[in-house]
Amino acid sequence: MAETEKIQMTTPLVEMDGDEMTRIIWKMIKDILIRPYVDLKTEYYDLGLKHRNETDDRVTLDSAKATQKYGVAVKCATITPNAQRMTEYNLKEMWKSPNGTIRAILDGTVFRKPILVKGIVPYIPTWTKPITIARHAYGDIYKNTELKVPKGSKAELVVTDENGKETRALIHDFKTSDGIIQGVHNMDNSISSFARACFNYALDAKEDLWFASKDTISKTYDHRFKDIFAEIYENEYKSKFEAAGIEYFYTLIDDVIARVIRSEGGFIWACKNYDGDVMSDMLATAFGSLGLMTSVLVSPDGVYEYEAAHGTVTRHYYNYLKGEKTSTNPIATIFAWSGAFRKRAEMDNLPALADYADKLEKASIQTMEDGIMDKNLAAVSKLENKQPVDTETFLNEINKRLAALMK
Ligand code: NAP
Ligand code: MG
Repeated sequence: MAETEKIQMTTPLVEMDGDEMTRIIWKMIKDILIRPYVDLKTEYYDLGLKHRNETDDRVTLDSAKATQKYGVAVKCATITPNAQRMTEYNLKEMWKSPNGTIRAILDGTVFRKPILVKGIVPYIPTWTKPITIARHAYGDIYKNTELKVPKGSKAELVVTDENGKETRALIHDFKTSDGIIQGVHNMDNSISSFARACFNYALDAKEDLWFASKDTISKTYDHRFKDIFAEIYENEYKSKFEAAGIEYFYTLIDDVIARVIRSEGGFIWACKNYDGDVMSDMLATAFGSLGLMTSVLVSPDGVYEYEAAHGTVTRHYYNYLKGEKTSTNPIATIFAWSGAFRKRAEMDNLPALADYADKLEKASIQTMEDGIMDKNLAAVSKLENKQPVDTETFLNEINKRLAALMK
């Protein structure tokens, strides 16, 4: 397309570049699938580990602040350093997970949604629509305090209020045996943010929202989650849900598992922290491929950050460095871009950009349904004409179909 015919943007996207194989794919996506069609406007932040180290991780904070300012970000997968990365990258410090830092600043909830394509059959055959899972990413056992308790001890909960007044409750009198105790907490404002992010996302997706806990057993703790969701729903979302023709549905965690398994999909499943940790891995596996799992961080005030759920695909990157061709799946990263474009289009009222986002996704799905895919996807695909290709061929094949759709 000539420069003047390219789709115009008004507000920039916050672009967070990343590491390893996904950083290579990031550039290819922009060169092959985006720049030929869109006059791309981004505010660029290099979250690659080298630059995070050079800036003492300042760049991660800056990118999160820019996301608050502009409202929409697209993020490449990034390395969370461990001991081995300290030497590999000669790091000054073991910098924290960028996703954790960004999530804390945006006070956001992560929604993961699988992309369904012909040939990749979920392990649960009735799941014909995607199930989106939202995990409350604060508190409970992830911020716990634990102790071993020797026999003969008495364990109590003690709360000291701001005037020094103590409230005590017996946990257990360990008369007959050694044991263990655990203290967990959550905060009303964190639960409220989680609830609002879920209600907003459901309205956006026009899908029902399910939430579950164990309030029959945990009559104060889990019940607080149930009550906060119910209050916020009644006061802020009920009429909007009714107008959109969607439902908010609360039940017990064991009941929800049974309902999820026998459902056809097509809803959002909000989970407490531990339930989300466990169930998101179950869903990702059951839907068939990590390369087809998308992820978006949504803040309670409506800020969105899109990314792929997978990591930087390190093994492929080391092969790439040796000069070998890789067969890496770019789809979840492409959908991070299309998701961000669609949201930007909606906020800035740019129908041509929204149309491009739809066509980019359509072309991606068509390519895989024509049998063209990476090796890992081909290994699980049930298509007869499947044809594993290298990363660049995969992207060029998507572009052929995109170009036809954009005519
Ligand atoms: P990973 O990068 O997701 O890769 C795990 C394996 O899954 C790969 O080796 C590959 O299998 C397969 N795979 C994942 N994505 C694929 C794709 N797009 N196409 C084809 N195959 C794909 O997870 P990891 O190895 O645990 O982590 C690597 C690095 O990523 C770590 O430094 C971690 O900190 C980081 N990470 C970042 C994020 C994030 O930024 N959101 C999330 C998770 C991990 P084969 O090797 O068998 O082909
Ligand atoms: Mg997990």
